[in-house]
Amino acid sequence: MNSNLARASLALGEHMEIFLIAVVIGLLPAAIASGKGHNFVLWWLFGAALFIVALPCALILKDPKKQAAEAARDAALAALVANTSAATRQAPASSETATVDADPVKKCPWCAETIKAEAKICRFCDREVETLAHAD
Ligand SMILES: [Zn+2]
Repeated sequence: MNSNLARASLALGEHMEIFLIAVVIGLLPAAIASGKGHNFVLWWLFGAALFIVALPCALILKDPKKQAAEAARDAALAALVANTSAATRQAPASSETATVDADPVKKCPWCAETIKAEAKICRFCDREVETLAHAD
């Protein structure tokens, strides 16, 4: 058993240097990836085997924590934009049309302001106006 292992490692010896270099080099993408919350061992193996591929991959990995923070910031920004645009859209509408919608209205013949259909005196110019003849 021991001699088998010795022979195997002797055969490996020729490639040992390359293997060691790969293992050491593989630590770099592994360290980068694990710093971003990914599996260190997987990235170490990946890095040792395919350093050229693993390094740029590790570098472009997205940090989930950072991503969440960015998403939250974007959502807050979107909400802010939605709120302000909704507010600007509502502001002019609430002052005039909202009160008029509820009751039937007419136009004052004197000042041309919109007043309630039942009004006998215009609330803008205080002049008498005809009530809309509903009754016959
Ligand atoms: Zn009037």
